[in-house]
Amino acid sequence: MFAVDVYTCYALAGAGSLVGLGLILLVRAEQPRMRQALLLYRLAFLCLSAFLVVLVTPPEDMGAALRQSTAVCAMGATLLAWAFRQLNGQQTPVSVGLFITLGIGALLWGGGAYASDQAYAIIIAAVFSCIAVGTLVDQGFAILGSPQRRGSEVALLMVAALFAIDWLIILVHAFHWEGPYPEHLLFAPDWLLSASAVGIALLPLSVASVVFAIVNDRLNHQLRLRALSDDLTGALSRRGLRERGAQLLAGQPAGGAGAAVLMLDVDHFKAINDRHGHLVGDEVLRHLTQVLRDHLRDDALLARYGGEEFTVVLPLRSRDDAEAVAERLRQVVEAHPCDASVGRIRVTVSIGVAFHRAPHPLEEVLSRADVHLYEAKQAGRNCVICEPVGG
Ligand code: GH3
Ligand code: MG
Ligand code: MG
Repeated sequence: MFAVDVYTCYALAGAGSLVGLGLILLVRAEQPRMRQALLLYRLAFLCLSAFLVVLVTPPEDMGAALRQSTAVCAMGATLLAWAFRQLNGQQTPVSVGLFITLGIGALLWGGGAYASDQAYAIIIAAVFSCIAVGTLVDQGFAILGSPQRRGSEVALLMVAALFAIDWLIILVHAFHWEGPYPEHLLFAPDWLLSASAVGIALLPLSVASVVFAIVNDRLNHQLRLRALSDDLTGALSRRGLRERGAQLLAGQPAGGAGAAVLMLDVDHFKAINDRHGHLVGDEVLRHLTQVLRDHLRDDALLARYGGEEFTVVLPLRSRDDAEAVAERLRQVVEAHPCDASVGRIRVTVSIGVAFHRAPHPLEEVLSRADVHLYEAKQAGRNCVICEPVGG
């Protein structure tokens, strides 16, 4: 059977960690949560580069040097597990993370110095098994339970699963092995030794590339969200409404349920701008967005269609329900004046309502709602005009 040299694999793991560190150093993130995760990854890869010790240690000192570097590498693996959690938004208090990381380092350091060979073998295998299984379970729940699961995250789970299986076999083996214990500290059964060593060699680079892919996916997702939302209010942009609205309507069964399309326009908004200035006008738009959001169901789409004009699309069963929702929103806006920096400003909206049933395109229903909005303005503002039954 072809046998790889374990020390060469360690050297490759150390070099791979440095490359991983370089890769993660290239990533820039704005979000504090992601920045903290990246810092943890950098620290982790720095610790894992302790594998390089095999390149600079004379053979007679190798045993002691490897025991010490194993403690540092175990801290690196713990930091990786912590970083995965952080990247997924699962908060770990810094004190808890530091306590576990340093505790694992101390356990392996002490084990290397004072424990018997077999006890030390068991400690190493138990620590790496716990880290791998813990990561697999922890991330497995978070990733598989998320509706936006991505291929890069599933790849991470597969790496963790392989590593967990490998270390659990080594752990069982460590309990039954009579010795002698190899100086390279990889206490795997003969049939698994080469595969375990190659696994260790490839681990840092595979983790770094998976992390790179995950971070890249996240940043792309954020950019996309930003492209689909309006800067000032955070509501959907017109483009976002086109995309998400079309998705929502496409999900409607033909001839079955329908969707209400509401066009809202702030009454006499120009007067607010003229009186208080544009910045206060902007405050009013943000306030209005918040009020609407607070009073809409989660499945409703809220978009800023233009200047002071908003659109709501929401799945509803009937035209009467649509009219009732519009009237409720009109009242809610009237009842919630904006507490702006210059004082309280009363806001009212006029609303035009159209009811959608498949297979009409969104654009067509929007223009019908717009006609009724115009009628609401003509009718004196602060009112709702809904398309007539069968209209
Ligand atoms: P009506 O009741 O007929 O709708 O009257 P109105 O004054 O609301 O309508 P009009 O169309 O005359 O004025 C809309 C104003 O909205 C004019 C424009 O300067 C202002 N506006 C458009 N976009 C923004 C924005 O992003 N911020 C602010 N502060 N004002 C905006
Ligand atoms: Mg207006
Ligand atoms: Mg307008």
